Amino acid sequence: MGSILSVVRPIVLAEPHLTESARRYLGECLDTNYVSSVGPFVGRFETAFAKTVGARRAVACASGTAAIHVAMRLLGVGAGDEVWVSSLTFVGSVNPILYQGATPVFVDSESVTWNMDPAIVDAALADRKARGIKMPKVIEVVHLLGHPADMKAFSGISERYGVPIIEDAAEALGARYDDGRFPGSIAKIGCHSFNGNKIITSGGGGMIVTNDESLGDRAKHLTMQAKLPGEAYWHDEVGYNYRLTNIAAALGLSQLESLDTFVEKKRALAARYDKAFANVPWIELPPRAAWAKPTFWLYTIRLKPGAPLERDGLMKHLASQGIQSRPIWTPLPRMEIYRGFPRVGGNVSDQIFETALSLPSSVGLTEEDQARVIDVVKAAGG
Ligand SMILES: *Cc1c(COP(=O)(O)O)cnc(C)c1O
Repeated sequence: MGSILSVVRPIVLAEPHLTESARRYLGECLDTNYVSSVGPFVGRFETAFAKTVGARRAVACASGTAAIHVAMRLLGVGAGDEVWVSSLTFVGSVNPILYQGATPVFVDSESVTWNMDPAIVDAALADRKARGIKMPKVIEVVHLLGHPADMKAFSGISERYGVPIIEDAAEALGARYDDGRFPGSIAKIGCHSFNGNKIITSGGGGMIVTNDESLGDRAKHLTMQAKLPGEAYWHDEVGYNYRLTNIAAALGLSQLESLDTFVEKKRALAARYDKAFANVPWIELPPRAAWAKPTFWLYTIRLKPGAPLERDGLMKHLASQGIQSRPIWTPLPRMEIYRGFPRVGGNVSDQIFETALSLPSSVGLTEEDQARVIDVVKAAGG
């Protein structure tokens, strides 16, 4: 086994795919000395991003987590409030709720898209309404692994109970609904991430999108220490230093220009995996609702009951052949720091977690390397 590792290049889960324009834009930053918070790229990135996702405003942030934190502030989330959120998500969805001293309520997944189950939320809120119990302040809908959540259902819930929605679209940039809309651009506020493993990267960064101009203005204000214009360094509320740098925005803009190409590559990659695994009886293909056009940001299979090996066994086997794979996010209520918060629903997210595995999904993954991944996965079944 050791000898294989020494001759075969390891295949990673997801790595950035840089383009020629990155070199050009970053060169402009260096040539002009605009390497920090001043310079033209932040504005250019924001404008291009808003146009791409069809939102009126986009406000750049230092990270996706920062974007979600600002979104919580914009909707007035604070102590004594609840925010309902998926239990099956990255911690960056949930920590901003705690930064605000509010209470996360963890909602189970549905099995069609693996996202938060709208039926559970609807039933629980109908019960609350009937009994006159306080509603959540916000519902935070996460679009997991590049598959849109059922925003038609969630928009209805939002209207019925008067609860605004924040969309965490950190993993779903480039995905669509069948009407052409982007996840993250439907609710009051959407949040995106440009961390290194996401479909586009700015090195690190995030974006808040909204169609509400005044929310857009306030978001910008909060990311810039809530400083008023003028020389006096006068601040009218407690803000944050959540700005994106000109360098990061330059890289982000170069990546955004290739978004369509990246999405096409991810879909082609998914189609090849689908074809190869379609007749493997122990593999369940990734979720795909009829109304959704997912990106397959991370191509994630589930091992069916009775599979010849378990998730960890398959991961180990792949690792021994120099192939990186990863379980889906550990449901947050399993961890000490989140265990004490309320939960609604059953154990669908736990079942997904125990059986799901993401396979190498880089935009730059070659067909040859992908064929090797496919062979190793299939061979693992004996
Ligand atoms: C990546 C991610 C975030 C946070 O983004 P960062 O830029 O890493 O702070 C939030 N939510 C989800 C679902 C993510 O995948």
